[in-house]
Amino acid sequence: MPITPDQQAEIDTLRAQPQPTLRATAPGMEAHLYNAYDVLDHGFIRVIDYMGDDAAICQAARVSYGRGTKSVQNDEGLIRYLMRHWHSTPFEMCEIKLHVKLPVFVARQWIRHRTANVNEYSARYSILDREFYIPAPEHLAAQSVINNQGRGEALSGDEAARVLAYLKDDAARCYDHYAEMISDEGQQGLARELARMNLPANIYTQWYWKVDLHNLFHFLRLRADSHAQYEIRVYAEEICKVVADWVPAAYGAFEDYRMGGATLSGKAIDCVKRMLKGEEVTQETSGMSKGEWREFMGVIG
Ligand SMILES: Cc1cc2nc3c(=O)[nH]c(=O)nc-3n(C[C@H](O)[C@H](O)[C@H](O)COP(=O)(O)OP(=O)(O)OC[C@H]3O[C@@H](n4cnc5c(N)ncnc54)[C@H](O)[C@@H]3O)c2cc1C
Repeated sequence: MPITPDQQAEIDTLRAQPQPTLRATAPGMEAHLYNAYDVLDHGFIRVIDYMGDDAAICQAARVSYGRGTKSVQNDEGLIRYLMRHWHSTPFEMCEIKLHVKLPVFVARQWIRHRTANVNEYSARYSILDREFYIPAPEHLAAQSVINNQGRGEALSGDEAARVLAYLKDDAARCYDHYAEMISDEGQQGLARELARMNLPANIYTQWYWKVDLHNLFHFLRLRADSHAQYEIRVYAEEICKVVADWVPAAYGAFEDYRMGGATLSGKAIDCVKRMLKGEEVTQETSGMSKGEWREFMGVIG
């Protein structure tokens, strides 16, 4: 269960007590604040706090005395300009603090994004919950034959059933041993910091993760991408929904220039120019490798 009834009651209490403030608030984000959004079988993301909105990006860009807003259209144009020209520091003026519950193997990918502040649940101090990520059958896929870093068709039949049973049984056995080792009933009980080494990488952990909007966009660009592993991508996609409501103009520019856009090499631009002049360019005459050509064709369709 991602959120227990007690935890939900705490969230409801927080949401029932709005505070007046002079600070800039984003109505779209206020609707999300504290709420938990389920991800995978036991995980979630929820916004704990945030700073800034679209206007704060413009305010910083103009180093303004007031809110920095000229008009929504002006602001959107400015934000698109900043995004287009990699003028990134105004986006760093907005921050978000998330509470995330995620499997340890996803956390290992996530923590590679060094430009965030993290505080993780202490498994030295606390006892980890008996919660493991078990993929839904459609995500229990075979190794991809075309991409060493990906997966192919879903497993089927006996193999799917056997793999699922291994995942469940191994996690249950490891947790039983963990619980037995830390127990102090009739024994000394192994330290929690040691007993945890027996737990599998699909056990859930939790952390608070604070990041500015520029670095969040970098994270989302990489992890909401179709090439990212499904299990981290679903977290990124859930965060995207929140960010779209928080800073709609900045998110729109990000979607257009970063998620929807592509970087072309000098050779690729040369090929586009030759194609526009009517020349039939092939991989052999492009000057690009097969991989580069495949990706280039993927971009220009
Ligand atoms: C599809 C995919 C596959 C991957 N496969 C692997 C893999 O096989 N093995 C593996 O180890 N990792 C892998 N990674 C992780 C990847 O290499 C990066 O570590 C991760 O995406 C974080 O990116 P980042 O360093 O740009 O982000 P951040 O750590 O948030 O840094 C943002 C930017 O800040 C700058 N920066 C931050 N810290 C430093 C620093 N100390 N020195 C210099 N510049 C810095 C860099 O410009 C960096 O791009 C993979 C990532 C993806 C998306």
